[in-house]
Amino acid sequence: MTKHPVEPFRIKSIEPITQLPRHERERKLAESGCNLFNIRAADVFIDLLTDSGTSAMSERQWGGLLRGDESYAGCRNFFHLEEVVRDLTGYQHVVPTHQGRAAEHLVFSLMLEKGDYVVSNTHFDTTRANVLYRGAIPVDFPDPSCEDVSSEYPFKGNIDCARLESFLQEHPGRVKVCLLTLTNNSVGGQPLSVANARTAAAICRKHQVPLFFDAARFAENAWFVSQREDSQSGRPVKEIARTIFDCGDGCLMSAKKDGLANIGGFIAMRDEAFAAQIKEMLVIFEGFHTYGGLAGRDLEAVARGLEEVTDPGYLAYRVGQVEWLGNRLAEEGATIVRPVGGHAVFIDAGALYPHIPPGEFPGQSLAVGFYREGGIRTVEIGSLMFGEIDPETHLSIHPAHELVRLAIPRRVYTESHLDYVARTFAEIYRGREKARGFAIEYQSPFLRHFTARLRELPAVVSIHAG
Ligand SMILES: *Cc1c(COP(=O)(O)O)cnc(C)c1O
Repeated sequence: MTKHPVEPFRIKSIEPITQLPRHERERKLAESGCNLFNIRAADVFIDLLTDSGTSAMSERQWGGLLRGDESYAGCRNFFHLEEVVRDLTGYQHVVPTHQGRAAEHLVFSLMLEKGDYVVSNTHFDTTRANVLYRGAIPVDFPDPSCEDVSSEYPFKGNIDCARLESFLQEHPGRVKVCLLTLTNNSVGGQPLSVANARTAAAICRKHQVPLFFDAARFAENAWFVSQREDSQSGRPVKEIARTIFDCGDGCLMSAKKDGLANIGGFIAMRDEAFAAQIKEMLVIFEGFHTYGGLAGRDLEAVARGLEEVTDPGYLAYRVGQVEWLGNRLAEEGATIVRPVGGHAVFIDAGALYPHIPPGEFPGQSLAVGFYREGGIRTVEIGSLMFGEIDPETHLSIHPAHELVRLAIPRRVYTESHLDYVARTFAEIYRGREKARGFAIEYQSPFLRHFTARLRELPAVVSIHAG
């Protein structure tokens, strides 16, 4: 068993959290329609809903807030951010946005027309939605290794270059951009190798398709590369990140992840003419091009976060903490997605509850179990989130796996908090045969998991159905 890395910081300012008594948690569940998105954050003890925008800032970042220059045009914090991003990526043109999806909206508005294609290792949800919103078609070519969730293949975040190449050959002129997601969020925060980025870049160049990165977790990706890719071992993380950015023409960034900030994002690119077009749109949708919808102080927090995030001491702790939690959960009986990703642990709820069929949402059963047993908020990533009704046969289509994601906010929880999560899972595991399925009472036509209301089924129904 690996040891939990020692937190490379001490606590200077605290935010109290309290655990509601069990009967109160039951009441909150009932009121929320057993949907954890409907529960107030104050009623959650340990919140593992997302790693997005939930980082704890450093004293340098908090100090930077007071250095916010709130001038409309040309504030000094923009120039700091610009300098940091140029240094990290090598891309000369830097445009701030209020978060990642705003960057997606701007770039795709200019790049995509109806019927165009975007190819990716896997589009993140909002990225896919922004492509579809333009009437264009997002196509994913994840590495085939990610289908086997138990294998230890080190680069499950890669793009399948053979499929990329044949798709570009078959659709000349129709693919407007190749977008590589670092790390590949939708397959579990798995990294993409330098070798893979280089091969993909060569294919894109040959077919004259621009290559962009969705760089939300570029530092975690570079850390994995430094640990797993022989040709890169021993190189500083910042240089590895730069080697990957060198393969592309630009990037989109949600600074709510590896920006170590609570809000923010940017677009960075080589092409000056494209940057000029982006800035013209930016002023309509986000703000003048030196603030892009952010306060000067937010720009400073992002700039300083980006300076901190490639620190190898921080990354060893960060990625090590997530891996440690994965191993602790496995020790308590959980089947988890392997290898453990950079920002989250994924538990296979289908394996935990073989008696609950996909149509009764075993993942939701586990997510509710975590709240009921321990006041812990997680998120179902299975049939509730991705299940569909086939429009022709009217039969349910279920995703391949019924998962629950435990996303770990950066620099927020200690070993003792995460051990509590593992001990709570041990309780759930002991009672696993009594866990029950759910039925949907209300759902919206799109993204139903955010607002659905569910009812817990009586035990007997689940057993018959299983
Ligand atoms: C979070 C995320 C986005 C969207 O960014 P927001 O800041 O949430 O708008 C895009 N891509 C990836 C990979 C992400 O994780």
